[in-house]
Amino acid sequence: MSDRPIRVLLVEDNGEDARLVREALREVRNTRFELVHAERLSEALRRLSDDRFDVVLLDLSLPDGEKLDTVVRVHGHAKAVPVVILTGFDDEAMAVKALREGAQDYLVKGELDGNLLARAMRYAIERKRTEEEIQRHLQRITFLRDMSLATTSTLDLRGVLDILLEKIEPLLPFSAVTVRLLNRETGQLEPIACRSLDEDEWKAATRGADASLSRVLPASHAPAKIPNLQSDARSLAPDFARKHGLVSGLRTPLIVKGDVLGVLTFITKEEHDFGDDEVNFLLTLAGQAATAIHNAQLYEDMTRLAAELATSNRVKSEFLSCMSHELRTPLTAVLGYSAMIQDGLLGKTNPEQEKALGMVQRQADDLLTMINGILQATQIEARVVRAEFDAVDVVNLLDEIKSAYVYPFGYPLGNDVALRWDYPSTLPLIQTDKGKLKQILQNLINNAIKFTEQGTISVSARHYLEAETVEFRVADTGIGIAKELQTVIFQMFQQVDSSETRNHGGVGLGLYIVKNFTELLGGKVDLASEPEKGSIFTVTFPVANGEG
Ligand code: ADP
Repeated sequence: MSDRPIRVLLVEDNGEDARLVREALREVRNTRFELVHAERLSEALRRLSDDRFDVVLLDLSLPDGEKLDTVVRVHGHAKAVPVVILTGFDDEAMAVKALREGAQDYLVKGELDGNLLARAMRYAIERKRTEEEIQRHLQRITFLRDMSLATTSTLDLRGVLDILLEKIEPLLPFSAVTVRLLNRETGQLEPIACRSLDEDEWKAATRGADASLSRVLPASHAPAKIPNLQSDARSLAPDFARKHGLVSGLRTPLIVKGDVLGVLTFITKEEHDFGDDEVNFLLTLAGQAATAIHNAQLYEDMTRLAAELATSNRVKSEFLSCMSHELRTPLTAVLGYSAMIQDGLLGKTNPEQEKALGMVQRQADDLLTMINGILQATQIEARVVRAEFDAVDVVNLLDEIKSAYVYPFGYPLGNDVALRWDYPSTLPLIQTDKGKLKQILQNLINNAIKFTEQGTISVSARHYLEAETVEFRVADTGIGIAKELQTVIFQMFQQVDSSETRNHGGVGLGLYIVKNFTELLGGKVDLASEPEKGSIFTVTFPVANGEG
């Protein structure tokens, strides 16, 4: 024990007994006792509230207390102060009960001896201290577990901070806790949240102070002990500390994967030397807090990005849809007028004019196809495309498509390219959306034509009885597609970006539409291709469709 006297609260209604205790303790060598005498239980409880004692010497027969109940009340009032019973009742059963109620020892008055009494009190103090320490460790472990559970229950940053501060508060009585987070742009630690302080006042008090990481923490990012926040040069708001009686502080870094996110500061209102054990615990706590804060920050960033992305996607879709509508109107007029000229409604045309007119029409047709493609793709994106299922005669449909690919002058087929059609004269009716199936096949055939300079393009269809599917195939002997690009080309606006492909025009929507329409109709697309050799696109549909 140090030279500091042991402060004893003697609770004894009998003046003579009190005098005997005082004298007995006076005889003890090597230890000084400072005795405060309370004659009643009520007075004892008041003194325990107002003052600090190392030990309570408690009589069990007080005018305002009933034996064991006295122990319960004293212990309940000052849990951290050890209680030694000093009583006239030599009653073993009562002694056991008193110990169960929290007393450290049970002494009988007749046996009083100063040295024995002093030893009993010293042991009681020591036992209590160990007990408290175990209790504190247990509390810390439970606390860390609770905190980890609680802070992972929400991903909202403010929510995480509130839970964190709420949990810390009872753990550090008479204290305040603050959280500052690093603003990566300014390099300053910004005040974010606090407990046991007026948040607005605290934030205002540190406004303008240099809160750079290098000032707040040592270069090693080790925790920083500040014995007196009111006078230390590192203090960010000494006036505020003086005003509110904030004395010692411990700054612990909030570190995740080696990066400092911010600083968690624990403040006491009395001078306090944070011991190694305490610092280690608070560092562990800060580590857990950092992870929770980091997760919440990531979630916040992600939510913001997702919202931004949704907005820009909506803007893009609206722009595309609006633009294609606007372009379609004048284009329809161009096509209409050129048809009138071609039909001779505006006078006779010579062969040269007809040739030029043919060019205008083909270009305008291409443009219209492209604009319609954009419109369809934006509708797919906006998920407003619906399929209208009906029984479709496949042979009829193929005949219809075929008739549109009869080119009297060869254009746009290359000179050395043959377009072959290969399908049986009877195929089953399939439940599908005729318009969309037609478009799927046309897109595939148009691509084959675009990307084939010589050889053959064959369009075929087969019925697979067992699988109850109909398969369409568009095979070409064109430029082919490299393996690594075979999935990418089905995405919106994706093209094999070589100058060769670019020469063929298009905006990279045809296959996106093919894939989405095929899936909408319950089918699938397969691609087999080899550069320089050609490509085979296969689309397969069920004959009967659940949605039909
Ligand atoms: P677009 O034809 O408008 O560029 P698509 O989505 O129809 O858009 O096609 C995407 C890309 O896939 C094309 O730009 C081309 O690079 C490649 N591609 C599509 N079909 C073929 C084919 N039959 N042969 C070779 N490449 C093809």
